[in-house]
Amino acid sequence: MLKHHCIGFLLLLVGLGSFPETGQPALQRFEFTQTHMGTRFRIVLYAPSEAIAKQASDAAFARIAELDAIMSDYKQESELMRLCKKAGGEPVAVSDDLFDVIAKSLEISRLTDGAFDITVGPVVRLWRRARRTAKMPDANELAEARKLVGFGQVQIDAKKKTVRLTTKGILLDLGGIAKGYAAQAALEILRRHGIQRALVAAGGDIVVGDAPPEAKGWRVGIAPLEDPNAKPSRYLSLVNASVSTSGDTEQYVVINGKRYSHIVDPKTGLGLTERMSCTVIAKDGNMADGMATALCVLGPKKGLPFIEKVEGGAALYVIGTDKGQTVQASKRFGQYQIDTK
Ligand code: ADP
Ligand code: MG
Repeated sequence: MLKHHCIGFLLLLVGLGSFPETGQPALQRFEFTQTHMGTRFRIVLYAPSEAIAKQASDAAFARIAELDAIMSDYKQESELMRLCKKAGGEPVAVSDDLFDVIAKSLEISRLTDGAFDITVGPVVRLWRRARRTAKMPDANELAEARKLVGFGQVQIDAKKKTVRLTTKGILLDLGGIAKGYAAQAALEILRRHGIQRALVAAGGDIVVGDAPPEAKGWRVGIAPLEDPNAKPSRYLSLVNASVSTSGDTEQYVVINGKRYSHIVDPKTGLGLTERMSCTVIAKDGNMADGMATALCVLGPKKGLPFIEKVEGGAALYVIGTDKGQTVQASKRFGQYQIDTK
């Protein structure tokens, strides 16, 4: 679940006057960071006091840590890995959180004709090794791994909260959705602490609540394809929404002059080779994160029609070619973009 920082973001600096007409204390801006899931999580929130801000953000980070312990495929003792060890057997009763993230993943698989598929685990393992050794995965091993891929092999029972993995060896990988899911869950915790004006960023996966005081929305920058740390080239204004960027800007391997991304096409078992990043806006973190991964697999021609079907969904592709970059946006993307000139 190691992810990179695709999106830099900037926040509006707004006036912080008191609210004499309501008698409520003035809201102050607070910012906190912690590392989870191999990524820096950042929380920005507005609260009436430091004590309230600290208590809420501590609870939000604790929630992220809890989800990491459940969903990690790096930790052998995670609930996810314990479930995978029972693949090929009976249905397994799982926690509400694990059930929910698997159910949401399957929904995105259906929505994208299987471009997003959490059963890519065995194939992803081979590509992780390829990244370390800079050697192509062995063809036979890849063929074996591909047999275990297919979201139809994950059977869930919503009443009993069980998951059955039909074939021994199936390995689920929540790396394409976990950060967005956790960021969304953290925002919900902040809301429960009475904090509505907040942003949670997990690298390139960002979830926002109500706008900062006296601002229309949270201003989020999208970094250019070549350099995730460079000054953003585009800005969005978001309220109660989520934005995720996926792409090959940092995690890839070059073998025989060809560049393979850490995102794989479930249909071929191959790492993506096109130089591309895709930014997706959706209502919540899991949808934005999952769809961003899926849209990279699909490419703009197939991917853009899919995002139109998602409520409030929008996407922007930045594609690197020999002649420079081309950009393609979905119909609703312009609604979120702000002019920075
Ligand atoms: P990033 O934001 O780092 O680009 P993504 O959200 O796109 O990350 O997730 C990439 C990760 O998702 C991979 O490292 C792998 O663990 C997993 N993955 C790769 N391909 C797929 C796929 N087609 N469907 C679902 N998960 C995938
Ligand atoms: Mg993703």
